[in-house]
Amino acid sequence: MKILIAADMEGISGIVHWDQVEPKHKEYERTRRLMTGDVNAAVRGAYEAGAEEVVVSDGHGDARNILIEELDGRARLNSGGPSPLSMVQGVDNGVSAAMFVGYHARVGAQNAILDHTWSSSCVANVRLNGRPVGEIGWNAAVCGHFGVPVILISGDQTACAEATELLGSIETAVVKQASGRMAAECLPPEAAQRRIYEAAQRAVERLRNGQSPEVLRLATPIRVAVELTHSDMADRATMLPGVRRPEGKWVEFDADDMPSAYRTFRALVALARG
Ligand SMILES: [Zn+2]
Repeated sequence: MKILIAADMEGISGIVHWDQVEPKHKEYERTRRLMTGDVNAAVRGAYEAGAEEVVVSDGHGDARNILIEELDGRARLNSGGPSPLSMVQGVDNGVSAAMFVGYHARVGAQNAILDHTWSSSCVANVRLNGRPVGEIGWNAAVCGHFGVPVILISGDQTACAEATELLGSIETAVVKQASGRMAAECLPPEAAQRRIYEAAQRAVERLRNGQSPEVLRLATPIRVAVELTHSDMADRATMLPGVRRPEGKWVEFDADDMPSAYRTFRALVALARG
């Protein structure tokens, strides 16, 4: 049994501001340590419940946040980018289930710490086959393409609710209660990590008992619709072959499957950013 821990940063307890998740700010050296701690809690819980192998994929920014020298020695770390499957790098390699640690709600969510979808400056909305999704939905659907269920999420209450609504009754570890985009009541690391550890244990136990949540499989071809923040971003995005522009700031394309949708979306956002 091999578990992939896909880790992001905005949903780590204690984090409430962009300065805390950007390497150029002083506080970042603290928060990357907090991120590593939350990831370790999930690693411990997974092994405790019978996982045989754990791979961690660093999914925030340029994927160089987790402190490998403090990472549980039993795990492996996917670091750096761009990598072929980005935030869920490694999910195509014999993984039984995925855990999302430190995740955040989609752009536009209310009472959600640092809500955004891929790019806070660029992306105002995303729909997959007509359904609004954020990074939880994107990454769960890529996992789903490879037959991998998502069994745990940690983050604020809104991110956890978004995951449950999309994926059914997955294990959740709510580590902060957001009361705005940049305000939350946070659990200290010790308490947050205990919650993540226990949820990870329960998630792997359910997986072993054949009671994991269903895999998220989207009907193909997949229609991806993206609303950009400004029309010049749409001007640039439509330079990508296959991308149409149904409205001023909305662009869309069809993809044969989720990995291809994910790749094109990433290229589109990179281009739109300019
Ligand atoms: Zn992030």
